[in-house]
Amino acid sequence: MSSQCISCGSCGMPLIKASDFSGGDVTHKLCAWCGDSEDHLKVTMEEVVEDCAQGFIEKQGLDGEAARKMALKYVTSLPAWKGNENEL
Ligand SMILES: [Zn+2]
Repeated sequence: MSSQCISCGSCGMPLIKASDFSGGDVTHKLCAWCGDSEDHLKVTMEEVVEDCAQGFIEKQGLDGEAARKMALKYVTSLPAWKGNENEL
């Protein structure tokens, strides 16, 4: 049993239950929202950044612009999007 917390390689959501993983497969690297049953990305980076920014606005009370900047920085640090920060 590893004590390391597994999180989605695309959006950073913690993967705890089998149903959190794409396709319900615990060997996958993506969550059910980001990945299809074959663990391929089914979302765009734009969608992940938008969703993440929305979370910052709701949970931390940031304004839209600041939330988006933080989300972009966070999302591009994740394995699925690393090095893609100029794509938006
Ligand atoms: Zn995800």
